[in-house]
Amino acid sequence: MEKDIFCRIIDGEIPCHKVYEDDDVLAFLDISQVTKGHTLVVPKKHYDNFLATPKSVMHKVMDVAQTIGQIEIKMLGAVGVNILTNCYEAAGQTVKHFHVHVIPRYDVGDGFILEMKNNAEGLNLPAIAEMVKNELK
Ligand code: AMP
Repeated sequence: MEKDIFCRIIDGEIPCHKVYEDDDVLAFLDISQVTKGHTLVVPKKHYDNFLATPKSVMHKVMDVAQTIGQIEIKMLGAVGVNILTNCYEAAGQTVKHFHVHVIPRYDVGDGFILEMKNNAEGLNLPAIAEMVKNELK
């Protein structure tokens, strides 16, 4: 199987603007810079996405993402941060290697748009909650 682009960055085949590295995790600037300082945090071992990643590895990635978000507020003048991860193509995932976006926010027109509409009308919320709750038991 062909290596994804993040595996190639991890293996040093493609350059990146690295901001953090340890035995399990790498963080580097996103090439698209949705906003100034937009960073990606990835596990060095390949997993397709967040949902396919073992919890112990996922926790390490999220730990680094949290620290980078704190630094973006402290050092870059950001006044907010969006931390998100897309799972599968339908959710906008384009690189099939688990990654967390840490996106510093500066103001409403800073380049990042996330629209979450209210589509609750007509949904049976108690039934949905019950279904998920039962599966979690
Ligand atoms: P997603 O759409 O959630 O899968 O995000 C993939 C992200 O990877 C996008 O924001 C791209 O800009 C970013 N990206 C793709 N190639 C590179 C690269 N070589 N170096 C840094 N970021 C990259």
